[in-house]
This record gives sequence, C-alpha cells and structure tokens, in this order.
Amino acid sequence: MKRFHILFSAALLIASAFSLNAQPKYIFLMFGDGMGQGALTITESYKAYQNGENCQVEHLVFRDFPYCGMMDTQAADRFATGSSEAGTALFCGSKGTAGTIGVDTDFKPVRSIGEILHERGYKVGLMSTDPINHATPAAMYSHNKSRGAFRELTRSIPASGFEFLAGNSFIDFENTEGELNADEYLQNHGYSAYYGVAEFNVRDRSVAKCIMCNERNRTSKSLITAEADVTKDYTLEDYPGDVTPAQYLRCCLDMFGDEQPFLILCEEGNVDHAAHLVFPRAVVNEVLKLEDAVKVALEFYESHKDETLIVVFSDHETGGISPCAEYKGHTINWQILDEDWNSGKPRDSYQKSDCRALATKAGINFAGSKHSGLPTPVFSIGVGAEKFSGIYDNTQFSKRLLGE
Ligand SMILES: [Zn+2]
Repeated sequence: MKRFHILFSAALLIASAFSLNAQPKYIFLMFGDGMGQGALTITESYKAYQNGENCQVEHLVFRDFPYCGMMDTQAADRFATGSSEAGTALFCGSKGTAGTIGVDTDFKPVRSIGEILHERGYKVGLMSTDPINHATPAAMYSHNKSRGAFRELTRSIPASGFEFLAGNSFIDFENTEGELNADEYLQNHGYSAYYGVAEFNVRDRSVAKCIMCNERNRTSKSLITAEADVTKDYTLEDYPGDVTPAQYLRCCLDMFGDEQPFLILCEEGNVDHAAHLVFPRAVVNEVLKLEDAVKVALEFYESHKDETLIVVFSDHETGGISPCAEYKGHTINWQILDEDWNSGKPRDSYQKSDCRALATKAGINFAGSKHSGLPTPVFSIGVGAEKFSGIYDNTQFSKRLLGE
C-alpha cells in the first residue's frame, strides 16, 4: 500500500510538472489600450449602478479569473510609456524608446511572440478597433524606428504570414501618386479583403489569409496627410454596422477552427482614446466592449479547457482615473453622465474641457489626459495562467507566455 502511495505521489508530481510547463494550444490575448485599474473600477461601479447599487462594484467577468498580476510599464527613456514601445516590451520582451516599434534601444529588430509562435505552427489573428497598422497590432509584425511609418509597417504584413488582420481600416497616406491603398496592396500580396461581418460570412472558405475592416472603410479609408493629427481617425462614435471586438473575435474563430494552434490578439483601442478625452462614460462603454469579447473567448475556453489560455491586460494606464477623489458627494453620479450620454449629442463633437467639467461634476477625477506611469493589472485563466500572477516588468510578459 505504501509503495502504491509513493508511486501515486510521483505520478502526481510528474503530472503537475508537465502542466506547469504545458504550452497552451489556443491563446487569447485580450487587450484594453490604456486600461488601468481606474477604468476597470469605474466600469464595475457603472455595472452596479445599472442594478440600482450606488456604493458597490459589480465584477467584470475577467475580474474573477483565478490569477491576477500587475505589470510595471516604463519605457527605456520615459516613465509613462507610449503604446508602440509598450507593445515592443510586451510582445517582443525588450524595452524600446519612445515612438519606436519592434526594435530594441539600438534599433535592432526583436522578434515578437506572434512571429515566434507562427514559426512553431500557430495561426496568428490580430484585431483592433484602431487601424490595423496602429501601434499595438503592428508591434506583433513590424520592426521600425518610427511607429508613424505607416506605409512601411503595412508593407511588413505579408512577410509575417499572419492569417487574420482586422480593424478600423489602415492609417495611410492620401493621394500619393502611384501608390496603392493599404488594403489594395495587401490584396496584391495574397490577402482577401472583407468589409463588414456580412461579407466575411459569405467568404470563400478556402481563403487562408485575410484582412477585415468595417463596411464604411470600403470607401472611407483612414487617410492622413503627411504629419497629420491621426487622432481624427479614432472614433468614439458607435457607427451602425461597425464591427465590435466580440464580432471580430467570432469571425477569426470561425476562420481558424480548432485543428491548428492559434494566437489571437484582440484589442479594444478606444479605452485609451476615451481617457485622453477625459470622457468617463465613454471609457465605460469601451471597457464593456472588451468584456463582451472576453465572453466570446470564455465560450471557446469552456469547450477547450485543457488547451486554452486567456489573458486580459493592458499596455499602460491613461488619465490617472480616480473615482470620488476630492469629491464631496463620495459616490459617482452616474445619472448625470448617463443623461449626457443619452442626449443624442454626437460623440465626436465632445471637447476635452466639456468632458472634464462633466467628469468632475459626477465625481470622477482625472489626474491628466495623457498616459500615466502606473502599473497595469493582468487577469488570466487556463493553461499556464499561473505564470501571469505576481508583480513583474512588462518585458516578462512574452517570456512567461513562451515559458522561458
Ligand atoms: Zn494613448
């Protein structure tokens, strides 16, 4: 009997060692740009408010994942990072300097987890509410001194071989003679293009690589002129028919199936833009859209529990959001924020000063309107989820994912 116990214990030890080193077959990286703890807390407060509770939080679905960690976010040359060098740190495991993408501090290319896993037979899907060649998705496939070299970033997509790229069009240059638009360029390099979910759903099922954009991006590209302010391409407007992160994720899963391993990065980019605008009700709207996408990943997880990893995380905090700080009401006044939100005023017409005044009135303090140097939370579930607990530097993220 004793011998049986020893053998059983040894088997358990071996099994647990294997599970600790197991590489997930299906990886979901669920990403809220600029999504710090303040954005999560006000969203949980809003969820409770909707159920008649003014002094509680109602958990976001990922808040109850079994593992939680915290990442430091500093860049090589600044305390509050930008998204491109943060993407380099997270996905390539190397600190970068401001405005660079996929390169180290000597501007040498560093490989991303997308590139490494693709080489190991994983399909790769990238989707964002931002343009496809914007900083976060581009940190998976491009290596450039400048995150603003949009055309060069786009040109590096075919070499990646990534199978599914989706987002709010591409940032591209307007009226450059002799140059194709980004979507036309990629179609010439083996990618099929779909505009909207309906068009994607009737695609030729043999298509192996595609880009996907909103229906309105077919004719309305995210065009900029030279040094233009690219913020005009961000939108907090819910355009009818625009594809949500949850819908992109469903499309990608429909295309990938479950035979081959995959890595999916699903980004809600507008949390950052809403926080830059000091617009708390919009922050909540965008965090809830990411939560909807996480629910789609969880549906997949439920039927593939032993092979799936889901991680919810961010690159940095934006706005220094702090509920009820220096506010005599001590409770967020969601009613005035909702009345404004539902007033029918076009979302893109909001000015930062108006938003700040409203936020202050409602009891939500923003320390500023730029990125902060605060650490960001990480929530994980599934195979290897335990590796993302603890407090660590953002350059550890990809190493933990790869089991290095
Ligand atoms: Zn930002």
